[in-house]
Amino acid sequence: MNERYSRQILFSDIGREGQEKLIASRVLIVGCGALGASHAEMLARAGVGKLRIVDRDFVEFTNLQRQTLFKESDAADRLPKAVAAKTRIAEINSEVDVEAIVADVNNSNVESFLDGVDLVLDGTDNFQVRYLLNDACIKNGKTWIYGAAVSSYGTTMTIIPGETSCLRCIFEEMPDAGSSPTCDTAGVIMPIIASISAVQVTEAIKLLVGKRGELHGSLMQIDIWANDWRKIKLAGPQPDCPACDKRNFEFLDAESQEFAAVLCGRNAVQVAPPKSVQLNLKELSNKLAALGDVKQNEYLVRFSTDGKEITVFPDGRAIIKGTDDITEGRSLYAKYVGN
Ligand SMILES: [Zn+2]
Repeated sequence: MNERYSRQILFSDIGREGQEKLIASRVLIVGCGALGASHAEMLARAGVGKLRIVDRDFVEFTNLQRQTLFKESDAADRLPKAVAAKTRIAEINSEVDVEAIVADVNNSNVESFLDGVDLVLDGTDNFQVRYLLNDACIKNGKTWIYGAAVSSYGTTMTIIPGETSCLRCIFEEMPDAGSSPTCDTAGVIMPIIASISAVQVTEAIKLLVGKRGELHGSLMQIDIWANDWRKIKLAGPQPDCPACDKRNFEFLDAESQEFAAVLCGRNAVQVAPPKSVQLNLKELSNKLAALGDVKQNEYLVRFSTDGKEITVFPDGRAIIKGTDDITEGRSLYAKYVGN
């Protein structure tokens, strides 16, 4: 083994044996924004042999403040994040094999991405995909490490099917569309990304080298600005959990998917949440006011930014003008409405 990993091998809980396990491991990273790019860089430097990175977005200049791996030329070239990450990782550690997949994770493909991986790291920016991942991982017995960060706070938990609570054991219902702040509406600072990602990646390394006894075993919440660190101890799978107990994986069913369709001839995409909601249009227009031109009346909020016009209705439905790409429409919805 080359000297690249010598300092990590000196760390006795990893050692030479642990390093060999890392090199033989394969990890799936879902979403390669701020959290996902940070996971990918740390795992690549640590020598995890195979990384599968799935992301639907392109690099933008607004990403560069917090998303490691990406540089100005990636944003200028509008490179897909998964592809830009693969290129950068090849420069950092050419021994790591990166499979870059440019795709929107949905109920029809999520299980195929789990194929052959040892564990899954959450780098997504929306609950739609997290509930889908939770179902897919519980169903297929894959450990996944949930992580989310916005503003200066974040949350993470390590979910081992059959051993720990899952996302639905704790939050049975997915939050309503438009009810949660996003990095694109509430902002975000890089240190909380680094903190949450550091906990997620450390948990991944412990699992990959077989040190399960060292896992934090909690729902961990950090507010890096308020200096607040909390651990809520996790119980096992809950007796009435729809996923763990009833094995009812409803997010894998097409009906519970967010609906998205191209509006023919209008250069527009319609996105609707799986269940209709009662949006507070005034609150939404206040959230968006700093980000672009916003008009609001009692029927809708119309928001223009970067050549796109997003019209949001009180039931959570949105029409995104300026694209006929469903993936881009879903991505803009996740950023500006939140799901
Ligand atoms: Zn559960």
